[in-house]
Amino acid sequence: MDLIDGNKIATDIIAELKADIAALKGRKPCLALVRVGEDPASVSYVKKKEKTAAEIGLESRVILPPVTITQDELFLLIDKLNADPTVDGILVQSPLPKHINEVAVFHRVSARKDVDGFNTVNLGKVAQEDETGFVACTPAGIMELLARSGVDLAGKHVVVLGRSLIVGKPVALLALQKRAGANGTVTICHSGTANLPLLTRQADVLIAAIGRPDFVKADMVKPGAVVIDVGINRIADPSKKTGYRLTGDVDFAAVSPLCSKITPVPGGVGPMTVAMLMKNTLKAYRLSNC
Ligand code: NDP
Repeated sequence: MDLIDGNKIATDIIAELKADIAALKGRKPCLALVRVGEDPASVSYVKKKEKTAAEIGLESRVILPPVTITQDELFLLIDKLNADPTVDGILVQSPLPKHINEVAVFHRVSARKDVDGFNTVNLGKVAQEDETGFVACTPAGIMELLARSGVDLAGKHVVVLGRSLIVGKPVALLALQKRAGANGTVTICHSGTANLPLLTRQADVLIAAIGRPDFVKADMVKPGAVVIDVGINRIADPSKKTGYRLTGDVDFAAVSPLCSKITPVPGGVGPMTVAMLMKNTLKAYRLSNC
């Protein structure tokens, strides 16, 4: 079994981006990070994005509206960023407070600056195989992990567990695309799928994105399969300094001896998400400067 090392692959991508950004003349790409309120996970995600941006020479602008901001005020803020020629990418950190319609906010971000890839236009471009769009960072990261690990999906049966708009659906569309590295035959499973293990056992490449700790067991996996574990689940663990440990959607101890390749949690898909955000921001800069 080969471990797919997301930390190493993300570090390689970050180094490539750093070199690309150093070679740019004039203004550097700029990412606006909007974080509403003080949700602890959001605080740490935005810090990580800010830190990575600084590391590669990309400008980041962190905007911290109070948790009481209204939807209209947030729209106004996004409109200003949309109109600002010195801002290339805009990310509104999820989750937003309950009184704000998150989907409406994602759609308010101009498609040209939607480096998170959550906008309808960009999701549509994934379906249309139009490469001028932005692919959501986690699905893009999964495809990059597969490509850089020498996994070609052509002729393979790819089974995706989960149909969310941010992971399951876009990664299924990407795996299905008629292009080198993709061209897979794709099955998407969800909570209403009957005989789920029957389907997962047919997977040459199994992508689990359901948010259920250790859900995928050994008897659900075909020997020799490639397994990508997207899940990030926090399990209470008083022995840890944080009070919790992270586990994926795959029972790693039971499944890993069976696979040809597998991603760990943490250290698999997670680090790729931030790297792909930086890549999308550079792409947005290039699109707006050519
Ligand atoms: P969502 O909750 O939006 O979607 C979960 C999907 O899994 C739904 O389609 C749901 O089905 C399906 N599902 C849930 N339970 C089952 C089950 N028992 N059998 C089959 N399908 C099931 O989650 P996300 O897509 O946002 O995230 C999935 C996981 O990936 C989470 O652990 C999340 O933390 C992680 N994640 C990791 C990222 C990273 O950077 N590594 C980034 C984003 C997410 P239905 O549609 O029928 O409800």
